[in-house]
Amino acid sequence: MNGVPKTEQRAYMRILPIEEGIVIDHLLAHTGLFVLNLMDYTGLTVTPGLDYRSDKLSDLASRIAGRAVVVKKDIIFIEGGERTDELISEDLKGAIKIVSPTATINYVKGGKIVDKIHPIPDPQYLGGILLCANDNCTTNTEGGARRFRVIEAPTIEDVLNYTTDFQTKTPFKVQCCYCEKQFFGPMVRFYTGQTLRDVLEGEGRFFRK
Ligand SMILES: [Zn+2]
Repeated sequence: MNGVPKTEQRAYMRILPIEEGIVIDHLLAHTGLFVLNLMDYTGLTVTPGLDYRSDKLSDLASRIAGRAVVVKKDIIFIEGGERTDELISEDLKGAIKIVSPTATINYVKGGKIVDKIHPIPDPQYLGGILLCANDNCTTNTEGGARRFRVIEAPTIEDVLNYTTDFQTKTPFKVQCCYCEKQFFGPMVRFYTGQTLRDVLEGEGRFFRK
């Protein structure tokens, strides 16, 4: 350490690593990279922060559980420049809310947070990010445009309540606008091929027995 000048020692201590763009904060740990995979950030600079201890989420979860619980979070910084306003589509916003109701979307300009979306409103509809659970649905057999009505979305309390049985309480329920099939939690599949369980089970939060 002795040979490193003070200015260089401070190089990694910048508070916000972006000048103009978005910060998606308070993503439940292990959902950050999933969210990033749903985005088109070609040509942009992205800084993912994974598995940080979140005092805010730990406090909330501890209050819900009635005992001390440690909750970790992911945080994503995207230097969006002129593309900042188009980075988060309505569909993506809905997807973020489904996997991390705790998430906050911050808009940054001139190195400062100028706008904040929290809580993210529950989506009324979700589009192409989901696949219909009915194998015979035309959206699966003929590849038509997909659209789903959200009947029930998970709440912050749902995902931070470590005793909730998500197999039976179905905190996420959607209905296909084409075949009208309703499906929930364990049957939910994203177009990435992952199920909701794949995305969330890293924390053992959903679907725990
Ligand atoms: Zn369908």
